[in-house]
Amino acid sequence: MSHVSIRQLLKNFDGKPPTVAVDHLDLEIEDGEFLVLLGPSGCGKTTTLRCLAGLEQPASGSITLGDQVVYDGARGVNLPPDKRFIGMVFQSYALWPHMTVRKNIAYPLKSRKLTDALASGRVEETAALVDCERLLDRLPAELSGGQQQRVALARGLVSHPDLVLFDEPLSNLDARLRDQVRAELHDLHQRKPFTAVFVTHDQSEALALGTRMAIMRAGRIVQIGPPREVFEEPVDEYVAGFTGMSNRLPCEYVDGRWYALGTEIHGTQPGTVAAGEFVLRLRPEKIRLVTDVADLLPGEAGVAVTVDDVEYGGLHFDVMCSVVGDGAVRRQLHARIPTFDSARTPRTVNRGATMIFAF
Ligand code: ADP
Ligand code: MG
Repeated sequence: MSHVSIRQLLKNFDGKPPTVAVDHLDLEIEDGEFLVLLGPSGCGKTTTLRCLAGLEQPASGSITLGDQVVYDGARGVNLPPDKRFIGMVFQSYALWPHMTVRKNIAYPLKSRKLTDALASGRVEETAALVDCERLLDRLPAELSGGQQQRVALARGLVSHPDLVLFDEPLSNLDARLRDQVRAELHDLHQRKPFTAVFVTHDQSEALALGTRMAIMRAGRIVQIGPPREVFEEPVDEYVAGFTGMSNRLPCEYVDGRWYALGTEIHGTQPGTVAAGEFVLRLRPEKIRLVTDVADLLPGEAGVAVTVDDVEYGGLHFDVMCSVVGDGAVRRQLHARIPTFDSARTPRTVNRGATMIFAF
């Protein structure tokens, strides 16, 4: 376990056009922390991990692992991957097909110069940790996807590395298995903390697993903090959109009234904006749909919308609606209304109806 410090890390790729994959990135990871890197495809998550692992040579900056400088552009330090004490778990499990589970898990110990007895003890102990001790003599082809992923996890942890890197390790699993392995991973980290950087583009994974989460955009970190803080207090529109505030409603303040696309916002007036234009970001899960302005609760605001479509999703209805503004400008909005909560679920939400989108 180790503290990790990344300073002003820069990595670009030549090509057409040239890409700045990691753009002067600064990141401190505490000892025992499970840091989740969240961001859209192409924002530089994998490249950041590869630079940490030594699989990619940065252009400049520095990386310190514990008290060891593993990369420093200015001083010409760049330790090869096998000199960095890092475990890796990838999306493709990358198990050796011709080796048993036991040999696969033991693989990272080869360069660690342990006695055979010590190594085999370590393998068995780690296999037990991820609940695959009964699979040790099988070949990867004889395992399910979830079992293969557990073996990959054991291989990442077996050498007790200073740092474990995860690159979207759950994304190849089906939904139920993904939830299960995610819960196991969380439990494992709680029982036996290790320093981890876990890359994902899945918001719910980030929220569930991270002791902190960092939102990445174009090679930089735009917000970092405990998941709850990032989720509830996004610093900008990009982070807001990425953490589920998917409704974006441009508004205007004119003569003491607020309007969305020229349609009046009723009830409590939103925010403390002085004047002019602003944008509301709203979570579909926090919306109520009511039939009349008079149904708005104290503290609630609402705008008239036309219901475009209603989808039944078991635990909720997904209601797509739109504000119809001046000159037939439309803005589509999404409300996710629980089916089991009668206070939030109007008796009828019909396509074509006019309702109040309350927030
Ligand atoms: P992510 O993992 O967040 O999806 P990547 O780190 O894989 O993003 O990629 C970041 C950017 O760097 C992308 O624009 C990608 O096209 C580019 N990139 C990644 N690897 C290479 C490479 N080997 N050669 C050229 N461009 C690359
Ligand atoms: Mg990637």
